[in-house]
Amino acid sequence: MKIVVQIKLLPDAAQETALWETLKLCNQAANHACRRAHESGVMAKAPLQRLVYGELKAMGLSAQPAIHCVRKTAGAYATLKANLKAGNHGRQGSKRRRRVESTPVRFRKDAAQPFDDRSLSWQLDARTVSIWTLQGRMKGVPFTGSPDQLKLLAEYRLGESDLIRRGKSWYLYATCEVPEAEEFTPEGFLGVDLGIANIATTSDGTVYSGKHLNHVRHRHRHLRRRLQRKGTKSAKRVLRRLSGREARFAANTNHRISQRIVTEAQRTCRGIALEDLGGIRGRVRLRKPQRVTLHSWSFGQLGAYIAYKAKRAGVPVVYVDPAYTSQGCSECDHIDKKNRPDQATFVCTSCGFAEHADVNAACNISSRGVAGWAVSHAADDAA
Ligand SMILES: [Zn+2]
Repeated sequence: MKIVVQIKLLPDAAQETALWETLKLCNQAANHACRRAHESGVMAKAPLQRLVYGELKAMGLSAQPAIHCVRKTAGAYATLKANLKAGNHGRQGSKRRRRVESTPVRFRKDAAQPFDDRSLSWQLDARTVSIWTLQGRMKGVPFTGSPDQLKLLAEYRLGESDLIRRGKSWYLYATCEVPEAEEFTPEGFLGVDLGIANIATTSDGTVYSGKHLNHVRHRHRHLRRRLQRKGTKSAKRVLRRLSGREARFAANTNHRISQRIVTEAQRTCRGIALEDLGGIRGRVRLRKPQRVTLHSWSFGQLGAYIAYKAKRAGVPVVYVDPAYTSQGCSECDHIDKKNRPDQATFVCTSCGFAEHADVNAACNISSRGVAGWAVSHAADDAA
């Protein structure tokens, strides 16, 4: 499976200038290719390359970067075409759609640029890269990363990396092709309940609170409202930066939580049971302030992270029917709305069992996981 590893570059002032000039020129070149594609209607990679390759070289790009710019352009137009077809830019003939169709695609001046092994090489022991720039090959650009990232890089890096500038920092997003572990036969299932107040709760009783993340979201929402009212160009810039920062913070949180859940399941030879998330918005009814949180909240992302980290580790994942997981008693199966005296607690009206509400739900998910696994693997056992 493919994994993207984010490696931070530590260029000195001169190196940074060269990188910045290079990235800007690559995006100017890509924008030139966009204009040519727009006016000529030639948007597929091969014919577009025939059309503009010479022009991009004349702008100062060497062969590989020029080809990557063409590919970037062709990719952007393919995406645009798919979006138009899906109606994401409005109906045919609508004002919004006409505006999109009548202007060439534009890349930001700091849009990501792919580098392949011919224009970028890695000196892993020295922790430096050598990269093509406008000023020629630039050697000895230092990089850094966590021990995990460096290990992935050393063992599995394959093919291209994207050069990214974010704020004042520089990154290479390196693609790694990591082998999948063989799935083991689980001894039981760790149930995971995903939520809002608590991002994730396991049937072992571990609660990952969403307090910090929700706090960041609320603070950003206020700031966003103020900036939107302002509507100036600089306010828009701050807005963009803000939304990127919030998404990264959420992704980071999700990465950390999913890693811990998968590690715990692997350590105890259990599979992971998750609710089938397809219907989460339709199913959950919430008071208004929470509703906002739910929509911006990334259930899908956490579920996806758990699934892919589990796959890497060979941990089986089953998805279970989410009906009544929060109202059913995990001890005696009695289902009753009254089992939930309030949001946080579960007290069974039949057997008196009391538990943290989300832990009880996670336990129900866990036992449904066991049942679901047994059903889907009965045939294997018989064979
Ligand atoms: Zn009970």
